[in-house]
Amino acid sequence: MDKTLIQVFKEALPETVRGISAFDESKERFYILINSTLSDEEQRNAFLHEALHIWNDDFQRKNVQEIEAFTHDFITRFTAGDFTSSDV
Ligand SMILES: [Zn+2]
Repeated sequence: MDKTLIQVFKEALPETVRGISAFDESKERFYILINSTLSDEEQRNAFLHEALHIWNDDFQRKNVQEIEAFTHDFITRFTAGDFTSSDV
């Protein structure tokens, strides 16, 4: 799967939704939708969250709670400066 084909959109979404990612099998393309009502920093984190799902092949996995816990933990550590660039 070519993970470079990611299209990103911004829309005003309900406030409980930060971002959504999806894969279109017919076009072999990923889509990320970011809630435009969030602050710039929140939008960056929402994009990172959704992009991690793509990079981690989460669309192939089944355990949603485990996936969300891993992704949330990664972003918390990332934004806290826990990683050097070679870790990412
Ligand atoms: Zn998620």
